[in-house]
Amino acid sequence: MFDTLSDRLSGIFTKLRGKGRLTDADIDATAREIRLALLEADVALPVVKGFIAAVKERARSSEVSQALNPAQQIIKIVNEELITVLGGEGRRLQFAKQPPTVIMLAGLQGSGKTTLAGKLARWLKGQGHQPLLVAADLQRPNAVGQLQVLGGRAGVEVYAPEPGNGTGDPVQVARASIEHAKRAARDIVIVDTAGRLGIDAEMMQQAADIRDAVQPDEVIFVIDAMVGQDAVRTAEAFRDGVGITGVVLSKLDGDARGGAALSVREVTGQPILFASTGEKLEDFDVFHPDRMASRILGMGDVLTLIEQAEQAFDSDQKEKMTAKLMGGEQFTLEDFLDQLIAVRRMGPIANVLAMMPGMGQMKDQLAELDDTHFDRVTAIIRSMTPGERTNPKIINGSRRARIANGSGVTVMDVNQLLNRFTDAQKMMKQMGGMMGLPGGGRRKA
Ligand code: GDP
Repeated sequence: MFDTLSDRLSGIFTKLRGKGRLTDADIDATAREIRLALLEADVALPVVKGFIAAVKERARSSEVSQALNPAQQIIKIVNEELITVLGGEGRRLQFAKQPPTVIMLAGLQGSGKTTLAGKLARWLKGQGHQPLLVAADLQRPNAVGQLQVLGGRAGVEVYAPEPGNGTGDPVQVARASIEHAKRAARDIVIVDTAGRLGIDAEMMQQAADIRDAVQPDEVIFVIDAMVGQDAVRTAEAFRDGVGITGVVLSKLDGDARGGAALSVREVTGQPILFASTGEKLEDFDVFHPDRMASRILGMGDVLTLIEQAEQAFDSDQKEKMTAKLMGGEQFTLEDFLDQLIAVRRMGPIANVLAMMPGMGQMKDQLAELDDTHFDRVTAIIRSMTPGERTNPKIINGSRRARIANGSGVTVMDVNQLLNRFTDAQKMMKQMGGMMGLPGGGRRKA
């Protein structure tokens, strides 16, 4: 899903790579391209406008971080704006003070409501609740049967009209289910309601009647993410006709362009609570705006890296290191260990390296780089005494054997590390203060 949007955005960011500074013209051109990418993804126009205005303003303002290069800065801003559009912190399900909590599901036919009812019931049960599923969709042939099957799979009781009672009255069923839930000590009632293929007055009235009968704590609108912006108009109709308190995006496993996902929050003013990602009951998760944003950007690792680059390589550390090298001081194994730890904090080493200028294209090869190797080096240095770390020359044969033993490696591994370190030390000496620390990408000195 979101493939086109992801591709477009990463193409836009690639163009920024190698730029030392962003001019206003760069920002305008970038904003224009992001706007097109969003429109192409079928994001609602008012949402696009707000998004672009925010990106431009932030890119122009001087919230420029020393730790990031221009491409990273724009990625960071776009990521944060995506998170905002998707709901910021997000919101969790609201529970009634006095059980049962009543959750009513609404949406068009085929949006994935009944499936969601089963998923939600299974998930809530897993959290220790005692949910009751209510079959109040008496419109769609076999919706009741489908819910019963899902309830069976989830191990959750299904309240349904007696078979043979004709079509029955969904409002009646819904009302009676609340009484049943109280008697049976169910703390959550999930009411599946009927959908139509399009919005009509009768359907909206029925939904409103059910709402009045069950007094829900949450009215969740289920929206098929594949339908795009169109679905958002339906959401508006439900918001006005029934009043919704939250949204669930369904079919996010398909090749949704992103339009519905990115528009629905702003258009309805209601948070996205869950994401439905497949036909199976377990294909379901709490919706996390930040995770979704990084999925849209298709660069989750890079984002983590950006965040951690800002934290790990704070200017203090850089200054300390630069001063040390400029002052002709030795780069010791202790410093090396500090750097290793800082880099390691930033995530898998292959990703860290991939962020370094020019290494991005080598992602496949880098993926083979082994984090355990990295950790082994750390372990070896940790097995050394402080004296050995500052002055590796004293590490003779018996010390090597002791270190190898202590860190669970061979003497050959220790030798290899020491040789590499000696090389690095020489190089550091030559480079002196010119050295840029790894991870921050292009940095201003
Ligand atoms: P309802 O009419 O709103 O109750 O919709 P259903 O729950 O019956 O779902 C309609 C169809 O979409 C069914 O074939 C479901 O299996 C399928 N479906 C529901 N949710 C998802 C989802 O998240 N991913 C995929 N791929 N299919 C889904």
